[in-house]
Amino acid sequence: MKATQIVLASRPVGIPAFENFKFEVIELPELKEGEVLIQPTFISVDPYMRGRMNDAKSYTPPYQVNEPILGGIVGLIIESRNSRFKSGDMVQGTLPWATRIIHDGKGIQKIDTSLAPASYYLGILGMPGLTAYFGLLEIGQPKPGETIVISGAAGAVGTVVGQIAKIKGCHVVGIAGTDDKVKLLKEQFGFDEAINYKSSKNLRKDIKAACPTDVDIYFDNVGGEISDAVFANLNFKSRVIVCGQISLYNETRMQLGPRFLPIVLTRSVLVKGFIVRDYADHFPEGIKQLSTWVRDGKLTYKETIVKGFDRLPEAFLGLFAGQNQGKMLVQVE
Ligand code: NDP
Repeated sequence: MKATQIVLASRPVGIPAFENFKFEVIELPELKEGEVLIQPTFISVDPYMRGRMNDAKSYTPPYQVNEPILGGIVGLIIESRNSRFKSGDMVQGTLPWATRIIHDGKGIQKIDTSLAPASYYLGILGMPGLTAYFGLLEIGQPKPGETIVISGAAGAVGTVVGQIAKIKGCHVVGIAGTDDKVKLLKEQFGFDEAINYKSSKNLRKDIKAACPTDVDIYFDNVGGEISDAVFANLNFKSRVIVCGQISLYNETRMQLGPRFLPIVLTRSVLVKGFIVRDYADHFPEGIKQLSTWVRDGKLTYKETIVKGFDRLPEAFLGLFAGQNQGKMLVQVE
């Protein structure tokens, strides 16, 4: 049986491009004892994957040139020689970008599609949802009446953070890159205010206007100048959750920004970075709460679905051009 896979053709310098990816047709061997054959249904594209394209030390090892790109996948078991799985099971895991995958079953989990659609396990009930849940609740410690600002607000993580903050009684302000996203945040996701950072003439002042009592919690998905503008508006004893720095992922030179530690010092600010898997022991609790909120209609969810395996690179590159609202996914047809 043949399959198509996508490998890292070369390491990007700056913004990734199509030539950094290569499609290959491979011949799959017969299944061995203990193995399963998976047909992917949805493949996730995530900003962190940009870091894995570099040959640099990080919390996940770099992709290797001429080796398949690995990412979050949900798929159907179409053949099994592993007693843990049967044909027809839906599973999720970190798997190679391929149209058919032979796997030994280690590290993949069955998903319950009667609870939620399969794609949700890559978004609101998966890594991005858990990132929002643990980052906000464990580090942010939101209290009713507090003001939270979220950058990258209209994406997979940001939309969930904003809604959980509303559940917790906060005044919620989102920052995003288009007027449509601003409208979406206010109308679909219940944000109190939203700011388009691309059209803002003075982001620092616009944040001040949206946060009359200053910012108690900043959930940072983007870093860079947007974060500089939020830092200037931080309150005493505020918390900064450093979740992502997407505005810097494609930089080729170290950026210099304002020296913000005097603000951290004089306003007793907590600044804490985290990686979602720091909370891995508590994932079942997070998934249970998120799925309850989804079932009860307290969390709504949006996906941008690009159709076709061959459009994976396009969908991934689209993250850096802000082409998604909510979670960006590829549906394998
Ligand atoms: P998103 O769904 O938010 O997609 C990325 C969005 O980032 C784009 O839609 C775009 O929105 C915005 N963006 C892209 N380039 C820039 C830029 N130069 N400046 C400002 N905004 C930009 O992604 P996720 O929700 O999956 O991830 C959000 C962040 O959280 C990322 O930084 C990611 O790396 C991080 N993350 C961290 C985790 C952790 O464990 N710490 C786990 C998961 C994600 P716009 O139109 O608004 O510009």
